[in-house]
Amino acid sequence: MEQKKLFSEPVKYDLTFAREIYRLENGSYIKQCMNCGMCAISCATKDIMDYSPRKLFNLIKLGKKEEVMNANTIWYCTSCCTCKARCPRGIPIVDVMHDLKKYAIEQGSDDYPQSAFYKAFWKEMSSRGRMFEGGVTARYFLMRGLDEIMKAFSMKDVGMSMLKHGRLPLLPPKKLKGMGGLKKIIRKARELERKEAR
Ligand code: SF4
Ligand code: SF4
Repeated sequence: MEQKKLFSEPVKYDLTFAREIYRLENGSYIKQCMNCGMCAISCATKDIMDYSPRKLFNLIKLGKKEEVMNANTIWYCTSCCTCKARCPRGIPIVDVMHDLKKYAIEQGSDDYPQSAFYKAFWKEMSSRGRMFEGGVTARYFLMRGLDEIMKAFSMKDVGMSMLKHGRLPLLPPKKLKGMGGLKKIIRKARELERKEAR
């Protein structure tokens, strides 16, 4: 009779992903996590996250790229900073989350509405220098496709109420006067980022 195995095969971890994450601006802080769970109990959105920040960091350490990239955790982080304020190791968890969002966008692993919203917001701000809610909304729904556009109709009452209370201007504001200066700042920031990544 075939002997039943008492132990499963040892798991092989591919740490390439972990090393990539450690190279991000705040990525190496993950190595300092001592698993105390303070971030998990402090996070207001933890209950709707696939993994708490603590678990996410463990998955990164184990090189579990697919689990980390498919999880909603980074997108459900609201950047409230509670975890950052409470982490006994002083880990800037919210900044790590931002790095992970940027990484996910670069990898194309960002099929989440939050990612489309960030992109729409950034496109609007960098082209006008000012916020135009109508522009962000239009860009967001165009990026998300027909299904989301249909969903937008279900929110028409909210839109109408915002219009009525002057919270949703129909016309875009004038472009920022110093738009050229703003573009220079953005270019410079991108150059610095590229240099640091080398
Ligand atoms: S609070 Fe800090 S040390 Fe504790 S589990 Fe979270 S990240 Fe790790
Ligand atoms: S910054 Fe993000 S991960 Fe940290 S407590 Fe707030 S929502 Fe949770």
